Amino acid sequence: MPSVCDSLPSVLSLAEARDRLVAALSPVRGVESVLSGCALGRVTADDIPTGVDFPPFSNAAMDGYAVRSVDGVPGATLQVVDRIMAGATSDRTLEPGQAIRIFTGAPLPDGADAVVIQERVVQEGETLRLGLSAPLLAGENVRFRGEELRAGERLLASGRILRPQELGLLAQAGLETISVRRRPRVAVLSTGDELVASGGSLGPSKIYESNRAVLFGLLAELPVEALDFGIVADDRNLLGDALERAQAAADVIITSGGASVGAADFMVELLAERGTVEFWRVAIKPGKPFLFGRLGETPLFGLPGNPVSMMVTFMALVKPGLEALIGLRPATPIRWPVRALSVIQKTPGRLEFIRGVLKRRGGELFVLPLAEQGSHRLSSMSLAHCLIVLPRESSGVAAGDWVSVEMLPGGERDMSEGAA
Ligand code: AMP
Ligand code: MG
Repeated sequence: MPSVCDSLPSVLSLAEARDRLVAALSPVRGVESVLSGCALGRVTADDIPTGVDFPPFSNAAMDGYAVRSVDGVPGATLQVVDRIMAGATSDRTLEPGQAIRIFTGAPLPDGADAVVIQERVVQEGETLRLGLSAPLLAGENVRFRGEELRAGERLLASGRILRPQELGLLAQAGLETISVRRRPRVAVLSTGDELVASGGSLGPSKIYESNRAVLFGLLAELPVEALDFGIVADDRNLLGDALERAQAAADVIITSGGASVGAADFMVELLAERGTVEFWRVAIKPGKPFLFGRLGETPLFGLPGNPVSMMVTFMALVKPGLEALIGLRPATPIRWPVRALSVIQKTPGRLEFIRGVLKRRGGELFVLPLAEQGSHRLSSMSLAHCLIVLPRESSGVAAGDWVSVEMLPGGERDMSEGAA
């Protein structure tokens, strides 16, 4: 019998693979209303207008004195007639020759159109001498009503992910609840006869399973609901059953392990039998046996089991796919140019992700490839700040050459000299 592998298209480039899976995935349906304060990381379902002006009234940008700008000439003397703290108001209208003591955030009194900062004046009793070097300009140190945004204007566009600063904007607009997209449900399962869940006892030939821990951590950064479908043995029927259960519960399935061509690697054949293989194998290292397909309508990402390959393929392929399902424009990771601190050997053919540590040398940033690059070595992923990305055709780099790096999740945290 010809193997399923024979009828499949050849190895795709990373860009082709990413484009194909992003194009194949459309946002899940469903919207829910949530408290704005609980909406961190969620995605706006509609354009959100503000009902209030930003700022809602003209106010002082600095502590000082509200004046008419025409009175603000060097050496002028004004009379202080009132005082306005933030949160208070004054019912006085400023007449020519008058000033009102004002504090940051307090409403500008009628008649005033500028604020002289307190460092530029001398106040004696109610007399104020302006120590200006140039005439005051209208609008100086004033934040005018609606200058940032007017009521009715768009505060946030549909499809925006809400970061802390966006939660602040919602709060400034006084919006207690908002509409966000439903979070796609992501089923996660690990396959392998050798895998034991932490807490279990390790027999000979067994290892503790770690991919779900990593995947749940990676998924926590996205607005998805992660569902744990546990560890499944290398058994066609058991695996088929588990996939069916995952399909019934989730919008998308992520498996790890069993995606290669070993005797116990069933993922590709199972998917070919029960669904559709969209593509299998990508010209990257690590992570070549990446599988993308559908079980019924449910998309499935089949990741290689080695912990580093699993994580690299998640970042490069699963994440943009999930972003498409979430309804975000998939973000291509930023690749930063830095110089290699040492030689890196490579054979042309596959794009390579090489774990690296960032180092400062004379004020410049360099990247040092870690010596241990085995795709089973999760500890080197833990030491690394970033992945050095060497294109398919590259035949290696010399020390001092420019290379591109992609930051690992949290990789910006430790840039100390000593970390290696
Ligand atoms: P596979 O992709 O199934 O051929 O597995 C490749 C390697 O990754 C093997 O050494 C497996 O033991 C290991 N592996 C597979 N799945 C996991 C997992 N969930 N956690 C830790 N190691 C795994
Ligand atoms: Mg396996």
